[in-house]
Amino acid sequence: MKLEKASRLNNLPPYLFAKIDEMKQKAMEEGVDIIDLGIGDPDLPTPGHIIQRLYEAAKDPANHRYASYNGLRELREAIAKWYERRFQVKLDPESEILPLVGSKEGIGHIPLAFINEGDIVLVPDPGYPVYRAGTVLSGGEPYFMPLLSQNGFLPDLSAISEEIARKAKLMFLNYPNNPTTATASEEFFREVVRFAQKFNIVICHDGAYSEVTFDGYRAPSFLEVEGAKEVGIEFHSLSKTYNMTGWRIGFAVGSREVLANLLRVKTNLDSGIFQAIQYAGIEALTGSEDETLKAVRVYRERRDTLVESLKELGWQPITPKATFYVWIPVPNGCTSMEFVSTLLRKAGIVTTPGVGFGEYGEGFIRVALTVPRERIKEAVERIRTKMPDIKYQKSNIKN
Ligand SMILES: *Cc1c(COP(=O)(O)O)cnc(C)c1O
Repeated sequence: MKLEKASRLNNLPPYLFAKIDEMKQKAMEEGVDIIDLGIGDPDLPTPGHIIQRLYEAAKDPANHRYASYNGLRELREAIAKWYERRFQVKLDPESEILPLVGSKEGIGHIPLAFINEGDIVLVPDPGYPVYRAGTVLSGGEPYFMPLLSQNGFLPDLSAISEEIARKAKLMFLNYPNNPTTATASEEFFREVVRFAQKFNIVICHDGAYSEVTFDGYRAPSFLEVEGAKEVGIEFHSLSKTYNMTGWRIGFAVGSREVLANLLRVKTNLDSGIFQAIQYAGIEALTGSEDETLKAVRVYRERRDTLVESLKELGWQPITPKATFYVWIPVPNGCTSMEFVSTLLRKAGIVTTPGVGFGEYGEGFIRVALTVPRERIKEAVERIRTKMPDIKYQKSNIKN
């Protein structure tokens, strides 16, 4: 049989990360002791009280059946309480909160609710690859908003032409940002709301890293800004905050109309989140925050170790105020992919090339702080001894 795959699959970007995986696999087979700073997945375990709650809930046969499409009322109430405590924004658990099978699920599905063939979706570049993939799978056209260092890695909305803005139906944003680690002010969010109102664009703000912040910085929610709840939604994830990436639970909050349409898509594609995991999610959101604070402290220590010692070597890493990544300009005359492959070949260190997140990610690599501090020290030591010839010229990147 001759398989003819759908042309939309050809429009998905080539999976660059597969190539890095292949290089990593090969090095491992050669016996190289790999330090993997490539993956954005917490190495710390899920807090014990959350696991305990899963264990108890898993034993109850009432939780073994299909869950409701819009999640347990108790979970939505726990989300409302968490959101109000954290951002001083009140949400109606009945209509302004929608639990998701991980936030990636909601991000990937939202274009199906709003995009017709050829409609434009405004997508940050560099950005989390799912914004683009979800757009392409829905038949939409991504229009890339460059995130440039001279603009603090915020999109320049005034650079989007009227023609494009009028054709756009949806905009993705993500602060604190993966991969650039940039943060956004409420003033920027106000500008986004005005833009959305003017051009009738649904805003989808991804707040996956809202709780991973340092040095007293508190990330604002998009919904804190007046008018935001009418123009868009915000995605949140339990993955990064509570070390629960494998559990698959997140949520969207905001415009009831937007959420109702996302729910219509979801009722036709998934059948809710395993209820025992929903109970564990309630425990995460309402229980002690000690473990989250501890994890953030661990990331901060790792950040300081990496950033300070790389600066001593003459590198120019950007010190992040949030997220567990460090965004590092590559040395002069080298592409991000070349630099990633040099780091792997010479020092056995896996990192992610900025170009993997979009063409405007070129010139940077992303390093994840998801290995113990000792390994980070070891990585820097290898760089110092095995790559002494890395040269940077003066740069104008703020750090
Ligand atoms: C990790 C991540 C997500 C996905 O989180 P899940 O809830 O595990 O699906 C979403 N957005 C960004 C920017 C991420 O880095």
